[in-house]
Amino acid sequence: MRPSRRESKQRRWDEICNRCGLCCYQKEYRSGRMTINTDRPCAYLVGETGLCMVYETRFKVCRDCRKVTLSRAMFSSLLPAECAYVKRYRKMKWLIPTARVVGPRSRGIKRH
Ligand code: SF4
Ligand code: SF4
Repeated sequence: MRPSRRESKQRRWDEICNRCGLCCYQKEYRSGRMTINTDRPCAYLVGETGLCMVYETRFKVCRDCRKVTLSRAMFSSLLPAECAYVKRYRKMKWLIPTARVVGPRSRGIKRH
């Protein structure tokens, strides 16, 4: 069966994601800036692949999970500069802050 227009649109949007998994760690304020702590992954993140083990039901099972929308890509301080949506859609990167990444992933190390 052919996918509906809506499904195709969603698929194209999802394909932008580079599966870095950086939006799937605990966010906290540190020194006045939103920070992604890669020492504390979401319980549903598969560290080796950067994929979510409950993707289809993620908003039901994880209360901290947020859908990445165009407006979040453009304005949310919860997303890091490395996010593929931010790279593509945030035009004024110097004006709208992104989240800083700290912990193992910030040093290119996967520990979980
Ligand atoms: S539930 Fe949400 S935050 Fe957790 S791993 Fe899945 S997509 Fe990421
Ligand atoms: S930070 Fe952006 S590119 Fe990385 S997994 Fe999350 S939505 Fe995808």
